[in-house]
Amino acid sequence: MKIIYIKSDKKKPAIFFDRDGVINRDVAGKYITDINDVNIYKTAIDGLRKIDSNKYHLIIITNQSAINRGYITIEEAVDINNYIVGLLKENAININAIYFCPHRPDENCSCRKPIPGLVYEAMKDYNIVLKESFMVGDKKTDMDMAKELGIKKIMVKTGQYRNEILKYGDIGYDFIVNNLKSLNKYV
Ligand SMILES: [Mg+2]
Ligand SMILES: [Zn+2]
Repeated sequence: MKIIYIKSDKKKPAIFFDRDGVINRDVAGKYITDINDVNIYKTAIDGLRKIDSNKYHLIIITNQSAINRGYITIEEAVDINNYIVGLLKENAININAIYFCPHRPDENCSCRKPIPGLVYEAMKDYNIVLKESFMVGDKKTDMDMAKELGIKKIMVKTGQYRNEILKYGDIGYDFIVNNLKSLNKYV
């Protein structure tokens, strides 16, 4: 599923961002079911403002199994995404689109990360130079999707980073940043 905010025919790479734990706070085991649950990192705003949107498509790729688990409706998920993109826009950050997977893991869909289905979907809507693109995430599934696509993997130490390291040890990223504030050093 997708929400397109800004169309663009321009041929350029993309920065794909995970949402929870990267742009907004993510509490382990807790789903965002309401706009009141949304806490955007100040460092994400500071960092995203430094990224040149003329140079990249800015696209959010997010697993939102809360939908098919029955915690939120698609409409509520859309409202939450619109709210996040709206807050970013107020800060002069222009997100092109959000692609989200509504499925539970047991549904074995082709769009839940680490499967790159949502990126393939985005490539139909935008002219993306994939080999120069980046994926920014806080989980191994984000890095695994990037690996599958052959794009650069950037891990952020916010969100689930700590839990993921404890769980997997080596996560396999190309670059690591404390938060999005220093992302501009690598893209
Ligand atoms: Mg995340
Ligand atoms: Zn899916």
